[in-house]
Amino acid sequence: MKAKRLWNERTRLILIMELAIVLPAAVLVIGGASHLRQIQRDHGVEALIQRDFGETLAISEKRINHKAYEMIDDVRKDFPAPGNACSGNLDKILAAHPYVAHVFLFTPEHGIIFRSQPYRLQDAGFHHEAEYLSTMFEGWFKMDFSDFTEKLTKMQQKGTPYYFDPIWSPRVDKRVYQSVAIFLTTDEKTGTKALAGIAFDGDYLRDQFFPQMLNEVMSRNVAEAQTDKNAVIMVRGKNESNPLAACDGWDGGTPEVERNLEGVFPGLALGIKLRGTTLAAIGQHFFRSSFLSLAGLSLVLACGIALTYRNVSKEMALAKLKSDFVSNVSHELRTPLSLIRLYAETLEMGRLTNPEKYQEYYCIIRKESERLTALINNILDFSRIEAGRKEYDFRETDLRELVRNTLDSYRYQIEQHGFTYEEKIDEVPPLRVDREAMARSLVNLVNNALKYSQDRKFIGVSLYRDNGSVKLEVVDHGIGIPPQEQSKIFEKFYRVGDPLVHNTKGSGLGLSLVRHIAQAHGGEVLVDSSPGQGSKFTITLPVNRAANKTTAATA
Ligand code: ADP
Repeated sequence: MKAKRLWNERTRLILIMELAIVLPAAVLVIGGASHLRQIQRDHGVEALIQRDFGETLAISEKRINHKAYEMIDDVRKDFPAPGNACSGNLDKILAAHPYVAHVFLFTPEHGIIFRSQPYRLQDAGFHHEAEYLSTMFEGWFKMDFSDFTEKLTKMQQKGTPYYFDPIWSPRVDKRVYQSVAIFLTTDEKTGTKALAGIAFDGDYLRDQFFPQMLNEVMSRNVAEAQTDKNAVIMVRGKNESNPLAACDGWDGGTPEVERNLEGVFPGLALGIKLRGTTLAAIGQHFFRSSFLSLAGLSLVLACGIALTYRNVSKEMALAKLKSDFVSNVSHELRTPLSLIRLYAETLEMGRLTNPEKYQEYYCIIRKESERLTALINNILDFSRIEAGRKEYDFRETDLRELVRNTLDSYRYQIEQHGFTYEEKIDEVPPLRVDREAMARSLVNLVNNALKYSQDRKFIGVSLYRDNGSVKLEVVDHGIGIPPQEQSKIFEKFYRVGDPLVHNTKGSGLGLSLVRHIAQAHGGEVLVDSSPGQGSKFTITLPVNRAANKTTAATA
């Protein structure tokens, strides 16, 4: 019946724990894992960084264009009206803006005035480029002047006055990228229109403008937390594989995200990546560490659940032990009391004729009162220990005398129960002990030996010196204790679940008191037992007085 109740309580406990802790924890862990899987499948981490990179490139492009427009506007405002245009005017512009390689102005009446940076003309490649561009633009404008003028007028009205023409000019060993800005100039007085152009110096773009701009935009992006501090950026021709220019720290490799430039630099593309790693590697690292921390979390949760389960089970077992204890103690109190009452009443009636009977009844009443006193003392001691109020009175004691005196009153009882009693008391040094507590320990051990013996009735008590300690041993040939129970029997309220034990009266307090008393004396109590063979309980007390005293103070 009890076992069934306990089983039910255990099942309820497991169910509650599963519902309240295990289920939410499992949902959390499984949900987390499948969410991570989903992100992994969709390359979520990479996509997120790519989106950030895309935004960074858009902002970078805007800043580069903004700067380039400022520079071109600066040059355009110096351009003369078509009627005043001459080589000298254009040369002045070139002198004022060294980053410009060529400027030109075309009217159908006067053809093209094309001027190039004079200090660069010694460079054969540059010279050749000047001739090529001059011929090319003149030919083009002659053919397309009116259409192109119309187009530029419309663009001007929309607020975008420039048409940008990307040109890759061949030099000695490579091609140089240039962007030529073409715009319309109008003579306010005569209304004459002319097509004008500014060509950026390709070398300047490659060696100064782009590296500076890329560094500047990246440091601004990092400062504004727009991008990772390890991000590096470069610019290259749309169909080129090598960068035209890159920011500091560019470590080669393929960009993770690219963006075709529009505005001032058509035909170029910006590319961004992370220095020293790839998005795929970052994604892998993220998932590895996420799964690891999820596994760690699961482990912590599992440990927590196991610990809670253990503690709750322990509490439940203790609660059960306590309730058993109450019923055991009430039973133990009732039996001697009813015996005392019965014999006292018989004596009171005065009908006994045999004086030996009187003696016998008095003896029974005394022994039952002693049993009661022992039980109540155990309970009182236990409650003092539990409340932390137990005090010991350590005095120098001759243990031989203490053992003999304690057992004197028992010897008769032991033999009356048909036990063979053996006593072996050696010479031992006097020790500082609490006499009452030591006597109680011995009585508890002897009582247990009496209670838990069946056919082979033997009790042996020995006191001897062993190296630095004194040992007090109580041996029986009783029912013994299974090995797995031997560590538990010293716990409060604990009684072995054997039917033989349950048929014997007991509170489960005796051995826990013995252990507490032994420890308070700086010693310990050990059991050596095998089921069906018998048990040996040994209290070991240290002879060393200093140790004895220290523990006494602690106790
Ligand atoms: P109890 O009041 O039940 O005897 P104890 O604390 O003295 O309480 O003992 C705890 C349990 O240890 C007992 O219930 C019994 O199962 C076991 N035990 C103690 N002494 C012996 C012994 N000498 N032989 C067999 N079992 C013993």
